[in-house]
Amino acid sequence: MRTKLTSCPTAAATAAQADDRESELRALMMMASHDLRNPLAGITAHVAMLREDYGELGEDFDRDLAVIERNLRRLNRLTQELLDCARTDSELALRPVPLDDLVGEIVTDHPGVTVSGPLPTVLADVTLLRHVLDNLVGNAVKYTPAGTAPQIGIRAWTRADGTVRVEVSDRGIGIPADDRPKMFDAFHRCANSTGYPGTGLGLDICRRIVERHGGRIGAGPRPGGGSRFWFTLPAAPAATARTAEGHGQL
Ligand code: ADP
Repeated sequence: MRTKLTSCPTAAATAAQADDRESELRALMMMASHDLRNPLAGITAHVAMLREDYGELGEDFDRDLAVIERNLRRLNRLTQELLDCARTDSELALRPVPLDDLVGEIVTDHPGVTVSGPLPTVLADVTLLRHVLDNLVGNAVKYTPAGTAPQIGIRAWTRADGTVRVEVSDRGIGIPADDRPKMFDAFHRCANSTGYPGTGLGLDICRRIVERHGGRIGAGPRPGGGSRFWFTLPAAPAATARTAEGHGQL
């Protein structure tokens, strides 16, 4: 008689298997999105040439070309975001980052942003942190209805527990209460986002980046209308913060 062997994996082994599967999936995602970029760049360049050489061919041609261009933009954005998502797994390069400098850079690209400074210095991977802030400010602009001037506020302060809380607030379309628990999940788009372009990946990437730094991220309504996004990061140790601020490094 054969004895039936039952496998009884421990919680740690199950977690390790899940980690392996996730790493495999990310490697695959990274490869696929990376390999898609070259053919996509070729198509994008040739569509631009078609527009330049034959743009005057008439309404039908123009309409069809506009559809191709719109879908290409979506495909380019999605490919880039999948690549960014897979990359959030790479090693963190932590150093003191004065938020005044980083936020200053981002704000120059987006009119209508008010910064309540001075802002503290955090211990973070500057490339990944720039990605988070770019995404949150970009969303605040994007989800402000056309024809309305964006009113975006950024503030940050150090809390008693040694973490820094950063807030990005807007007066845009707001977040429906039902969507709040899911909005940081990959591909989730809120019920009121119809008509606004997007892939639903940006906030998932932000969450992964913030959590890799040991922080938390969330969103809620802004009193008076709009949304308020926040995240936490470790503060830079006081001595390094002063050095970094003194030299204005990023
Ligand atoms: P998307 O590419 O769709 O903008 P995100 O992951 O950045 O993807 O955001 C997920 C969803 O959260 C969006 O589709 C939108 O419904 C909602 N959202 C994000 N930022 C804002 C904001 N500032 N105001 C209102 N809704 C927002």
